[in-house]
Amino acid sequence: MSVNIFTGDKMNQFSNLAQPKKNPLAGFYRQPKIYVSLPSKGQFYPAGSLDVSADGQYPVYAMTAKDELMFKTPDALLSGQSTVELIKSCIPSILDPWVMPNIDLDFALIAIRIATYGDKMEIGCNCPHCNAENSYDIDLTAWFGVFNNFVYSSHINIDPLTVHIRPYTYREVTKTAIKSMEQQRIFQVINDENLSDEDKLEKFGKSFIKLTELTVDIIADCITQIDAPDGSVDDKAMIKDFISNCSKDVFDQIQKHVVSMKDQIEFKAQDVTCGECNKEFSLPVTMDQANFFAVKS
Ligand SMILES: [Zn+2]
Repeated sequence: MSVNIFTGDKMNQFSNLAQPKKNPLAGFYRQPKIYVSLPSKGQFYPAGSLDVSADGQYPVYAMTAKDELMFKTPDALLSGQSTVELIKSCIPSILDPWVMPNIDLDFALIAIRIATYGDKMEIGCNCPHCNAENSYDIDLTAWFGVFNNFVYSSHINIDPLTVHIRPYTYREVTKTAIKSMEQQRIFQVINDENLSDEDKLEKFGKSFIKLTELTVDIIADCITQIDAPDGSVDDKAMIKDFISNCSKDVFDQIQKHVVSMKDQIEFKAQDVTCGECNKEFSLPVTMDQANFFAVKS
């Protein structure tokens, strides 16, 4: 009997493929809460990773209970998987968030947060002067203005060269964060272990070199092409070789440009006044897990 039911279900699935049967509850599914235009304007997405909209507007849905539960899991957050699932669920036009440009990432999270909890984000902070507990409402919609004026400048002129860059993908950002964390951990282990000074020095040196290599790799990875008077280069290995051998001045100019792109869309610290002692201080604003959820009621 149960076998028959199973077969029946399978049959239904096949017929559903041809003519989808509408769930009578579909009208009660969550609807888009807001429509946004992405800071990247849809550029830098590999083919098939963004369901491009004709008018540049993308629907953003509120989180489901499942999204919230998953995004609250600290381990999943570290790997980036829960962020990917969250974006897929709430901004379904972004088909593959792993390859989305990082310039859209914070924006996407803010949009999801606004769609779910509204445009105020409460941040708690102890006053650095008198240690009194304060809480401030950050207006997230104001951040949208910052993103709307953002233009990603994808080339750097370093006479006579022109260096073309692209934003990092979310996968690259996550990998880099994990690698750099591993190396930082080695630094800490060196301090804890009962090693001879000689061994410590060796481990420290190795770890330091790895961190330096990582910095070079990070810069080389975002360069797509370099135009020189004698021709253009888009070969990854050649570009990396150039970055390893160019002058400090050239490297610094590229790095400065890459960092400045990121700084433009970073959360800026807010000047706030302590409710207890009335002194001013600077409140760092981050879109971390603790701030993301409207835990206060
Ligand atoms: Zn105070």
